[in-house]
Amino acid sequence: MFQDQLAEKVRPFIDLVDDMRSIGIDKELPLPTIAVVGDQSSGKSSVLESLSEVALPRGTGIVTRCPLLLQLCNDKAVKWKAVISYGEKFRHEFDKPSEVVRLVEQAQNVLAGKGVGICEDLITLKITSSTVCDLSLIDLPGIARVAVKGQPDDIGAQIKNLITKFIKNKTTIILVVVPCNVDIATTEALKMAQEMDPEGTRTLAILTKPDLIDQGAEKNVLEIVHNRVIFLNMGYVIVKCRGQKQIDENMSITRAIEEELEFFRNHKHFRSLLREEKATTKCLATKLSNALVKQIKKYLPQMSEKIKERLGEVKHLLSKLEGGPPLEPAEKRKYLIQVITDFNEQITQLSKGDIIVEENLFVLMRKEFTVWMKCLENAKSNYHKVVHQVVDEYDQKHRGSELPGFSNYRVFQHVVQKLVAELKRPSMTTLQTIRDMVQKQFDHLSKENFKNYPYLQMVSKKNIETIQEQQSNIVKARIVEQFEMEMQVYTQDEIFNKIFQEEGEIAEGKDHDTRSKYPGLLKSYYEIVVQRLADQVPMMICYFILKESAKIVCSEMLDLLHRDDADNILQEDSEIGEYRAKLQAQADRLLLANDKISSL
Ligand code: GDP
Ligand code: MG
Repeated sequence: MFQDQLAEKVRPFIDLVDDMRSIGIDKELPLPTIAVVGDQSSGKSSVLESLSEVALPRGTGIVTRCPLLLQLCNDKAVKWKAVISYGEKFRHEFDKPSEVVRLVEQAQNVLAGKGVGICEDLITLKITSSTVCDLSLIDLPGIARVAVKGQPDDIGAQIKNLITKFIKNKTTIILVVVPCNVDIATTEALKMAQEMDPEGTRTLAILTKPDLIDQGAEKNVLEIVHNRVIFLNMGYVIVKCRGQKQIDENMSITRAIEEELEFFRNHKHFRSLLREEKATTKCLATKLSNALVKQIKKYLPQMSEKIKERLGEVKHLLSKLEGGPPLEPAEKRKYLIQVITDFNEQITQLSKGDIIVEENLFVLMRKEFTVWMKCLENAKSNYHKVVHQVVDEYDQKHRGSELPGFSNYRVFQHVVQKLVAELKRPSMTTLQTIRDMVQKQFDHLSKENFKNYPYLQMVSKKNIETIQEQQSNIVKARIVEQFEMEMQVYTQDEIFNKIFQEEGEIAEGKDHDTRSKYPGLLKSYYEIVVQRLADQVPMMICYFILKESAKIVCSEMLDLLHRDDADNILQEDSEIGEYRAKLQAQADRLLLANDKISSL
């Protein structure tokens, strides 16, 4: 019915925008579109029915409860077919026009819930037939003045918000539906359009119900249509749809369109509007198609830029996901060997001090070992204090059977033992801290290397945990052993004398009383203990917690290669697979959109 010589030039542009919407580009860049707004009962559904040639849900109250994207496609080869889609996945194809009402209502119930609530999610209804025009427009809920039973009190505000969301975009053509038989200036729909588009550059108004105007009011309507009352750059079109009686009598839409033409032809006042191309649904359809295409062309450069940008992003995300394992068994095995070897190599590098992660493990460990050293140094002053005290108070508190001036070595040995034993606790803390650091970095490598393979990630994480636990128990036992050995209070004479000479200069010569030399001697011994422990503890930790554990982790991972179920081991996270497929599809569509734009 609305075949138009322009169709060939129109379709590619409209398709382009529809494609982009399906890619989700409308989330980042408002797309050129036509949004239909009107007060309740203004005749919105009737106009859309005339344009789409199918019956849409109608009735009193809020019938349109979700935005409905109506995509009309003219295809001479197709009698009639339609696809309704919404949400992430729902898509249903059908070929009976009579099913539209039920399916749209069903979609609204799913999205907005049964009842009278509204919702912002889009329902897409694509109708292809040999007679419809090429057009895409979005039907929005009618503006309700007062809430009816069961509706939230703020339903009016909710609807206005939803409409505003669509019509505030500069890319949106606002199609306002106003009945001829009311004062158009008072219609809420036109007020909203004027608010969002004060200059009227992207607003087009449809006047409905021309058969219902009072006799004598025709002149006023003509003034409006001629753009002399409320000026709109895109102007006015007047249409006549089925009245309630004709609907009740089941007059077909095709018949109604024929009747519309007769109505205008025979109308004393409005006849002239046919020539001026300001009347009938057919004229409206052509106008809208052209306006939409013009709008699309205007925003094409911006869209093209956005698409290129998005394509870059999607490609980057895809490159980070990698390709996934090969399907062929032998290749898959090779791939598994590679994945594990890569991981092992990194663990080994890490244990050797190569910088492969952002936080340099050796720098972190050295800091922690310095803390340990400081702790040893800090314990010194207390040690000195206690030693002096024991010497000073020897005769009053510690002296046994020995003659005056002599002293018992065991007293001093006991003091040394007690104070050195206090260093055990901080050494254990050092162990725990380093273990946490190493484990964190091992875990990090496991996450990075096996990010697409939950099984490998799980196995390696478990291995790391067990091995770290086991190695840390070894170190704990060694530290306990070391401190048990320290109870011997031992060093080579030569070492002792050397340190004493270096350290003890001050104490010497002052006094010939041997007991006054004790603090110096004991201080020297402590110096030796500090040197011994300062190195011994870090060396043990480093060896068992890092070097040995790296080796064991690697060998445990290699054990996986003895198994013959590479399939299970390389089982991809289903989400990753889906995500990759989704990105790939997105990239394909963006590429397609990009090609389409360039070929227009
Ligand atoms: P909506 O609420 O804006 O969707 O309005 P509808 O399309 O449901 O129309 C409301 C009422 O106006 C219905 O009873 C229609 O039959 C009637 N109607 C719509 N357009 C015309 C028209 O051009 N002439 C007449 N007489 N009635 C119309
Ligand atoms: Mg309606």
